[in-house]
Amino acid sequence: AKLQATRFPFRQPVCWRAVIGAPPSTRGGHVKLELVKGDITKVDADAIVNAANSSLLGGGGVDGAIHRAAGPELLAECRDLRGCPAGQAKLTKGYRLPARHVIHTVGPVWRGGNASEEAVLARCYKSVFALVEQHGLRSVAFPSISTGAYGFPIEKAAPIALREIHAALERLPRLEKVTVVLFSPGDLEVYQRALAAAPASN
Ligand code: ADP
Repeated sequence: AKLQATRFPFRQPVCWRAVIGAPPSTRGGHVKLELVKGDITKVDADAIVNAANSSLLGGGGVDGAIHRAAGPELLAECRDLRGCPAGQAKLTKGYRLPARHVIHTVGPVWRGGNASEEAVLARCYKSVFALVEQHGLRSVAFPSISTGAYGFPIEKAAPIALREIHAALERLPRLEKVTVVLFSPGDLEVYQRALAAAPASN
């Protein structure tokens, strides 16, 4: 497996690893942000994030994969939540997943870029991290929200995701690890390039 590592000039000693063809690392240490290629339903974390639709009753893509792996108890808990508007997030248990919790967030549908899509996507990440903080979670894994069926261009989504993750890592001292799980090598490359191009903070 190819392994790439580089330092990323965060104010705190945060760096990133990208593992191609290998499962996400469970090492702690100083690695706070990881970009990996893989299947988020296999990730052991305090929470994985679901790119859900506003019904929270399951769908295709990562949503379908999470519900299949978690089992029917997840759908039962989601029914009681009575949906979720775009940009907000709700937490459930993880049931049969290796992850302890699922944070369901509803991304924006891409409508050409003039319908506040970028702001709503940023709000998804902020809403997820608000729950991470509220529940004292120490590790969280994200898929690439909105860049599948919802059509948000991944080259535009990746810098927004990384900016919000960076801000959360700086703000939440208890948060030890954020993993972005990309489903294809091409998606991973887009996030790697966005991370390399991200402005250094302070
Ligand atoms: P959205 O409706 O928010 O666009 P999708 O599930 O259609 O959500 O796509 C979001 C991203 O999740 C896409 O890049 C898709 O390839 C990816 N994806 C699909 N299944 C998985 C999985 N099991 N693990 C991680 N990512 C996945």
